[in-house]
Amino acid sequence: MKILVVEDEAALAEALSEILKRNKYLVDAVYNGEDGLSYALTDLYDCILLDIMLPKMNGLDVLRALRKQHISTPVLLLTAKSDIEDKITGLDSGADDFLTKPFATGELLARVRALTRRKGEVITDEFTYGDIALNKSTFSLSCEGEFVKLSLKEYQIMEILISNPRQLISKERFIEKIWGYESDIEYNNIEVYISFLRKKLSVIGSHVTIRTARGVGYFLESGV
Ligand code: CA
Repeated sequence: MKILVVEDEAALAEALSEILKRNKYLVDAVYNGEDGLSYALTDLYDCILLDIMLPKMNGLDVLRALRKQHISTPVLLLTAKSDIEDKITGLDSGADDFLTKPFATGELLARVRALTRRKGEVITDEFTYGDIALNKSTFSLSCEGEFVKLSLKEYQIMEILISNPRQLISKERFIEKIWGYESDIEYNNIEVYISFLRKKLSVIGSHVTIRTARGVGYFLESGV
């Protein structure tokens, strides 16, 4: 899960990023509305935390511009106080929820969880596909009672694959989602992680396979 934080108060942006990272989210933080909009338009995020009062472009304008471009990423608006006017305008502009500053960590996480939950998804610590289950809390991959532990990067790659089964995910997309734009990671690093994951799938005796699509990317197949 990848979250975009758009907040110009550097200390708050950092605190939000820290809390989210500690709870295993990937986080990008930007400090003005223009950057917020250009990052959000990549459609790489599962949720956006958006401050309203921002330099260059305010949060409500960012939100309207996003919805106009048909970016439907859930947006949690950060409001300075319990301002009814902001809330009404925010809802009209396409916000999904609000968080009033200052807020408790528990409330922040609960709201992010609610927004990133897919429709009809059961609240669980696991992603499942074919004969495998991927546990979000323990980073373990299991198949019929056999478990194997994943490293952070292996887990992040597997989470993207298992959330989009049978869909081709390009190497660029893995890099953008996990390492970010400014990273100098190379495609063969992804190949190495994929080969580790394939070994682990075989260790637990799963029929699920990570298929390669002509050097473009990868997809998950249940194999049954
Ligand atoms: Ca602000």
